[in-house]
Amino acid sequence: MAVETLKTFDRVFKSLVPNPAGCKIGSNRLRVNYNRFPEDLEEFLIAFREDVNECSIDALVGIGQPTQRARVLIEGDKTGKLDSVKNLAELIEANAAFSCKSCREIGDAAIALERPADVRLLHLDESFLQLCPALERERLHIFSVSAITRQQRAKQAQAPQPRTTPEG
Ligand SMILES: [Zn+2]
Repeated sequence: MAVETLKTFDRVFKSLVPNPAGCKIGSNRLRVNYNRFPEDLEEFLIAFREDVNECSIDALVGIGQPTQRARVLIEGDKTGKLDSVKNLAELIEANAAFSCKSCREIGDAAIALERPADVRLLHLDESFLQLCPALERERLHIFSVSAITRQQRAKQAQAPQPRTTPEG
């Protein structure tokens, strides 16, 4: 049941979210035969760790010569300080063939770069607060359960303690 829901989500999600970068690691899909469920899950995880050479994401970022949109991120005052963008700048500068190992290092920047103009990105990570506006892409920040719990604890710590006053 949970796997079916996951597969449906994955199928619907894939149809809604285009993957113009064509990252091979990012396009891995879970295929499950219920008679060998643990093995299939393990294969799925192993596929993510596999290093794929010559990932087609290089056309999106512009190896050796950054694309105009990649340059916006690299040269931006705020975006240029983000780890994913710093990694992106180093990889473009290195001018070497892109592998999916590199894709993992530029994750947030690549996600922002491949968003089409008609898609609003729903995100947890705060880096998209800078990345999306720099690329003129709509975004909506949602919070994880742990982030909400942290905020509530911080509010409780700051809340004034109730005063004790004498009766009458
Ligand atoms: Zn890749």
